[in-house]
Amino acid sequence: MRKVYLQNLGLIITEKCNFNCAMCLRGKCSNKEMSDEVLEATFENVIGTSCLSVCGGEVTLVLERLEKLFSYIIKKKILLEQLAITINGSNYNQDFIKLLDSFKKYLETVNKGYYEPALMISYDKFHLAEMKRLGLEKVFWENCQKYQKSGHLLGYQSLDKKLFNEGNAINLNSKKTIPLRPMPYIMSYVGNDLKEDREDGLLNIGPIVTINTEGIVTEADGSYLNQRTIYNYGNILDSSLEDICLNRNPLIVPPKKYFKECVKAQKKYQTYLK
Ligand code: SF4
Repeated sequence: MRKVYLQNLGLIITEKCNFNCAMCLRGKCSNKEMSDEVLEATFENVIGTSCLSVCGGEVTLVLERLEKLFSYIIKKKILLEQLAITINGSNYNQDFIKLLDSFKKYLETVNKGYYEPALMISYDKFHLAEMKRLGLEKVFWENCQKYQKSGHLLGYQSLDKKLFNEGNAINLNSKKTIPLRPMPYIMSYVGNDLKEDREDGLLNIGPIVTINTEGIVTEADGSYLNQRTIYNYGNILDSSLEDICLNRNPLIVPPKKYFKECVKAQKKYQTYLK
């Protein structure tokens, strides 16, 4: 199986969440968590990624899963430049900080001492409405200060501009939402002729590959329902990442064009980056 280096890997490690935001692109939450089998199969394929986004749900509710994910990465010596986790700020847990502290050491080891703080806290009118509903406003601000002190907080994230018409957002004013356009894959075979010798060498895939709790390779911003139906591109438990991505008629480019094409696709398809 050809080893893959991903521009961005999104792993949806849980569908659990204590909020029910009106704009939530995931929609209905559940108790599903990513299994060991899915984690193992993922890192059988992947040798590295520029950025790993650990997604939910609310990641702070499944620390045991996060610990397992970090252990796999360290055990397999996965190359990783940056870690990104977005949380809703309602929980602060010393065990979470300990996990981030210990994983920071690994990131510094593989990145010549460099570490960029991993956490973003969601902060917009939809999350604020949930905090108010649950009586967590004071707790939220206290938690923000604690996260700031921990050294792991990068900043705050607002998703109240244009939203994809997915999950709970389908109930919002349609002027606020647009249809999700599936992100194309850009692939580049490094060190080999593009068509020849698929047995070894490295394969770059971008701009974003997302794997959900069940191992489905899917859209980063798709609702849970649509991930299992219309954005279900194949399962990492059944096929290699290379085969799953090839099935979607990717744009296959030479290595020198790869990064530029990934940036182009990300800008065009990830609306809220604009
Ligand atoms: S937007 Fe985030 S915090 Fe809000 S319900 Fe969805 S997963 Fe939970």
